[in-house]
Amino acid sequence: MTRRISIFGATGSVGTSTLDLVERDSDAWQVVALTAHGDVAGLAEAARRHRAEVAVIGQEALYADLKQALAGTGIRAEAGPQALVDAARLDVDWTMAAIVGCAGLEPTLAALERGHTVALANKESLVSAGALMMGAVRASGATLLPVDSEHNAIFQCLAGSRMEDVRRITLTASGGPFRDFTRTQMAAVTPAQAVKHPNWSMGAKISIDSATMMNKGLELIEADHLFPVGLDNIEILVHPQSVIHSMVEYRDCSTLAQLGSPDMRIPIAHALAWPERIATPCQPLDLVTIGRLDFEAPDPVRFPGLRLARDAARAGGGHPATLNAANEVAVAAFLGGRIEFLRIAAIVEEVLAGYSAPAPCDIAGILETDAQARAAASSMVERVQA
Ligand code: NAD
Ligand code: MG
Repeated sequence: MTRRISIFGATGSVGTSTLDLVERDSDAWQVVALTAHGDVAGLAEAARRHRAEVAVIGQEALYADLKQALAGTGIRAEAGPQALVDAARLDVDWTMAAIVGCAGLEPTLAALERGHTVALANKESLVSAGALMMGAVRASGATLLPVDSEHNAIFQCLAGSRMEDVRRITLTASGGPFRDFTRTQMAAVTPAQAVKHPNWSMGAKISIDSATMMNKGLELIEADHLFPVGLDNIEILVHPQSVIHSMVEYRDCSTLAQLGSPDMRIPIAHALAWPERIATPCQPLDLVTIGRLDFEAPDPVRFPGLRLARDAARAGGGHPATLNAANEVAVAAFLGGRIEFLRIAAIVEEVLAGYSAPAPCDIAGILETDAQARAAASSMVERVQA
C-alpha cells in the first residue's frame, strides 16, 4: 500500500537522505509536501523528481521564483512560515521533520497536534519546546519516531521493554573534529576546519554543534524528553569510531547497544519503515576492518556546552529554549566569520546567566523566550566584533 509522506527541510542533509531512500522504492511512497528555506532550484527539482503535490519555500519573497520554477508541472507552490504550518496539517501517513533549528518548531508541532506519525530529526524543536511537544503527542495520539542516530538507537534498544526496568541510558559522542585539541588550539580553528566531521556528513549547523559538543548537550535534553528515565540516568560517553550509536542498561545489568555504519540513512530507514524494516544501500558493519572500539569520558572543561545543556535541562522552564536560541545565533556568527570558535559557548553561557523569566507555558511563550535569547546573543556578537 502506498503511504503518503511529507518532508520538511527536503533540501538539507537529512532531507536528501530521506528522498534517496524514497526514490529506491518509489511505488511505496506518495510524496505530498516538500519544503525548503531558500533553495528554490533544489526544492523545485526535488518536487518534480518525486512528483510532489505541493512545494513550500520558507522565505515568502521567493514565492514568484518557486511558482515559475514549477510552471506547467501541476505542483502547487506555496511560501512563508504559515504555509509551512498549513503543509504540516495536510493528510499524510508519515512526516519527516528535518528543518534545522527552532524554525522547525511550529510545523513539527502542527503535525504532532494532528496526530501524525512524525520522524524527528529537528532536535532543536524538542529542546526548546519538549514539554509542549510531548504534551501534543499524548493529547493527539501522534507517534514520534526519533531519527537522531543516538535516539533512534535507544528507541531500538528499548523495543518492547518497560521504562521502569531501565537503569541508565548512554548517549555516545564521536567527540567531533577537535576531540584532542587543547583550548588554545581551539581558539584558532576556522569554520572550514570545524564543519569537517571525522565520521558523519551533515549540515553546517549540526557540524559546528558537534565540534563544540553542544550537539551532545542538545541530545541530552532531547533524550530527557523522549525517554523518561531521569536526567541523572542519562550519561554521555565519547566513542570516536561512531559505531555504537547509543546504549540502554537494564536493572538486571544487561546492556543493549545498537551498532551500524555512520550513515544517517540507517536511522532514517528505520523510522520510514517502522514498525517494519526495509533494505538500504548502506555499508553493513565490518567489525574486523574496524578492529577496535574506543571509549573515553567527555571533558566538560574543554567542551562547556555539555555542562551548560545539563544545567539548562535541570533548570527547565525557558532555560533550554534560551540555550538553543543563543547557540543558534552564536553558531551562525561563527560560520559567518564574525566570532571565534570559543566564543560560541561563552555567548550561550552569558545569555543563560542573564535569563530569568517565568516558565513559558505555550507556543507564544516559547517563541518569545527564543526571540529574547536571540536578541541578547546578537548584541553580544556585535559587542565582540566592535
Ligand atoms: P541542513 O542545513 O542540511 O538542512 C536544513 C533544511 O532546513 C534545509 O532543507 C533548509 O532549507 C531548511 N531550513 C533551514 N532554515 C529554515 C527556516 N528558517 N525555515 C524553514 N526551513 C529551513 O541540516 P541537516 O543537517 O539536514 O539537519 C536538519 C535537522 O536534523 C537539524 O535539526 C539537525 O540537528 C538534525 N540532525 C541532522 C543530522 C545529519 O546527519 N545531518 C543528524 C542528526 C540530526
Ligand atoms: Mg545525533
